[in-house]
Amino acid sequence: MHEPTLTHLRAEDPGLADLVEAEARRQYEKIRLIASENYVSRAVLEATGTVLTNKYSEGYAGRRYYEGQQNVDPIELLAIDRAKALFGAEHANVQPYSGSPANLAVYLAFLNPGDTVLGLSLPMGGHLTHGWSVSATGKWFNAVRYGVRADTGRVDMDEVRDLALKERPKLIWCGGTAIPRTIDFPAFAEIAREAGAVLAADVAHIAGLIAGGAHPSPVGHADVVTTTTHKTLRGPRGAMILSTAEHAAAVDKAVFPGLQGGPHDHTTAAIAVALKEASGPDFGDYAHRIVANARALAAALLERGYDLISGGTDNHLILIDLTNKGVAGKPAAQALDRAGIELNYNAVPFDPRKPFDPSGLRLGTGAITTRGLGVEQMPRVAAWIDEVVQAAARQDEAVVERVAGEIRELMAAYPMPGWAPTP
Ligand SMILES: *Cc1c(COP(=O)(O)O)cnc(C)c1O
Repeated sequence: MHEPTLTHLRAEDPGLADLVEAEARRQYEKIRLIASENYVSRAVLEATGTVLTNKYSEGYAGRRYYEGQQNVDPIELLAIDRAKALFGAEHANVQPYSGSPANLAVYLAFLNPGDTVLGLSLPMGGHLTHGWSVSATGKWFNAVRYGVRADTGRVDMDEVRDLALKERPKLIWCGGTAIPRTIDFPAFAEIAREAGAVLAADVAHIAGLIAGGAHPSPVGHADVVTTTTHKTLRGPRGAMILSTAEHAAAVDKAVFPGLQGGPHDHTTAAIAVALKEASGPDFGDYAHRIVANARALAAALLERGYDLISGGTDNHLILIDLTNKGVAGKPAAQALDRAGIELNYNAVPFDPRKPFDPSGLRLGTGAITTRGLGVEQMPRVAAWIDEVVQAAARQDEAVVERVAGEIRELMAAYPMPGWAPTP
């Protein structure tokens, strides 16, 4: 049963309530290894479901364009203060609707159309919004892209420096969506200084690890930091932009009125709750357990002959090149999903295959760590992945079905915030 209960939703729209229950059950039964996903707490769920969704609050606290902000102003200020305290930032904007709009706001704050931006190439682990060709950021700006080294699978800092000095970008992005290794923020900052560029760190994936002390922080190195709030940070769908005091006005103006209308106040409240949780005594332990789980899972996969980009992981994320297993990423991911292991197919660096049918799989341990799985379960998870990947290569559905049953049984021992089977 869902908690908060769906009593009124069920009365109003039973078909929809059924779908929500089914989704909750699906999240409960699966080993969720999608690196960008998590399970939020019941407190965060409750905050997102409040009457705050009824309110319009264009502007910022004390400078709104609508009346009736007696409660919304303190809520947004609380989220801002908690964000600044948690990350040690001079300024925080908690209004971006999600990670992509937050990144677009950075362009609007610092660049004009046609200006040069340098970011990690999408197939090398970067994000669409770091100047990839199909994104507005690649169409409206002159995007130059760096990659990873073929021998190490790690970001090629020599290439970053060479491109930065040759192309003189106004903006440099560090961070991405498929980076299994620690990002060297001081090295990026030095290059940005040398090139006279603004450095933006997009820590969407690793914000929770940074908050919990399990990854170095970009604060103090990057001029601006963008992050989603819903990945390892374990909050609602949303985003934040942190910056130095120097760039505060430019960032705020870019978000509103530059890009957005009214902020989603129910999301702001839920972000405030998530930031409180992330400042609490247990969160550092959570962040470190995420990394320990990823390391243990990587070690078990290596033992089974899997080719991991960069040879392992420093964070929550693992990128597998399946080429030596005789199966492509997509059929493997689909078989794993049927077997109860949810992840995504992904391009690997220098992938000879097409983006919609690439060679790799991307995994992350943020969600399973929230469920309470620990390093002792990781060899078993790796064994299931291996069994199903091999089954996918020979199209053996019997194995897939057997594993699905075993996984349902395992996950029933790990409670999920927001849903439990009806006794
Ligand atoms: C997830 C992600 C984003 C985009 O976030 P959305 O909320 O999906 O728009 C941006 N940058 C990076 C590095 C991400 O991983």
